[in-house]
Amino acid sequence: MSNLLGLEVKKIVATPPEEVERVKEWINTEEYKEKNFARQALVINPAHACQPLGAQLVAHAFEGSLPFVHGSQGCASYYRSTLNRHFREPAPGVSDAMTEDGAVFGGQNNLHEGLENAYTIYKPKMISIFTSCMPEVIGDDLTAFIKNAKQKGCVPKDLPTPYANTPSFNGTHIHGYDSMLLSILQTLTEGKQVEGRCTGKLNLIAGFDCNTGDYREYKRILKEFGVPNTILADISDAFDSPCDGSYHTYAGGTKLDDAADSINGKATITLGPYATPKTFAWIKDTYSGKHVSMPMPMGIEKTDAFIMKVAELFGKEVPASLKNERGRAVDAVTDSHQYMHGKKFAVYGDPDFLLGYVSFLLEMGARPHHILCSRGNKKIEKELQALLDTSMYGEGCKIHMNKDLWHLRSLLVTDPVDAVIGDSHGKFAARDANVPLFRFGFPIFDRVNKHRYPLIGYQGVVNMVTEICNKFIDIKDETCEDRQFELMR
Ligand code: SF4
Repeated sequence: MSNLLGLEVKKIVATPPEEVERVKEWINTEEYKEKNFARQALVINPAHACQPLGAQLVAHAFEGSLPFVHGSQGCASYYRSTLNRHFREPAPGVSDAMTEDGAVFGGQNNLHEGLENAYTIYKPKMISIFTSCMPEVIGDDLTAFIKNAKQKGCVPKDLPTPYANTPSFNGTHIHGYDSMLLSILQTLTEGKQVEGRCTGKLNLIAGFDCNTGDYREYKRILKEFGVPNTILADISDAFDSPCDGSYHTYAGGTKLDDAADSINGKATITLGPYATPKTFAWIKDTYSGKHVSMPMPMGIEKTDAFIMKVAELFGKEVPASLKNERGRAVDAVTDSHQYMHGKKFAVYGDPDFLLGYVSFLLEMGARPHHILCSRGNKKIEKELQALLDTSMYGEGCKIHMNKDLWHLRSLLVTDPVDAVIGDSHGKFAARDANVPLFRFGFPIFDRVNKHRYPLIGYQGVVNMVTEICNKFIDIKDETCEDRQFELMR
């Protein structure tokens, strides 16, 4: 074998081609699947990211908020580049770049210098601080460090500096999202509750949702209702801002005053129960008004539940425009259900999304044959099973809890499906199984503009149905014999 310069390169270890072929075939067998599912101490390609990434998403979602990573520079680059590649937008955040000396002596000096620089250079209205693994392993005391920083004058005493411990060896991006959101709301609402005051608004929390189209869809639905609202952790402009020739470090985000006043809201809904358990528990204890935790409105039934809940909370009729929209979504489903009916799917992702995918697929008469969650618990497993039990199409479908995308590959090649739903990381398994991957969820690196097409609400139903059914029709067109190449499908 020669390299690009034409020089002979001798391999240190040579694997005979027949051995490569043997292993290639072997990893598609039941025998290998059993060994793969027996593995315990190793995770291969998990369908989740680490806690601080979720914290960084929230940190971008408030007006003038600068995400600040207390920890390693390389980790900060990972969160930024992941968000950046998904949205194809900048993800401006800073890090105090702890290195070996910080790991030995503690990261207080890094934090103080970093806060001073960040405040002086980027002039944020709020610095949202979270941690990478390193300071968590050595046990840095963020509470004391930040208090000391304010006493030293690194940042003004009245600058909001919410902070969250986000150890990555525990939990996933959704847990980091929850911790950071809780801290931001606790910080901003402190002392803002006013006896007898009601903003008359709905506070809406979308959960860890990286589809900017979903946020715009929530706002549009609430506008149709005439319900004033505050979207808590609104990423829609932060990660989908207009290209106007100038750079805005802090595009959009929930206004700090609105977030502060959200404690006096008329009602608060979280639509990401698995991404916001701590935040919601605290809101229930603290916020005025009604509190509702319900699944993401994905599919007709779950959207209906959301719409009816808004109507109930605000004593309003469902507007005719939304009723018509529902009718059009049902029509879209009816027109195209035959292309999905009976088809088997494998789905993977965060618990909140899995509930949405499964609900939608069952409505379409499709089978969510493999449901895989790489970090879940008994609660989500039971909820998914209960959902499967509501439909004949759920019979025989299997839930694979705390399994990764290498497990998924084994499933796809030994117990095949017609298609896969999940983020871009599943493309390798889908390719090996020769089935299409419908890229919903996060992250999506290898397709454009997917985050602009909502998956929630009635519009989300139309979008998902259109994408999935047309792909199946494409496959038919590409693979059928000439005599079956029809104009009508
Ligand atoms: S898992 Fe830990 S070390 Fe790895 S990127 Fe996340 S915070 Fe950094």
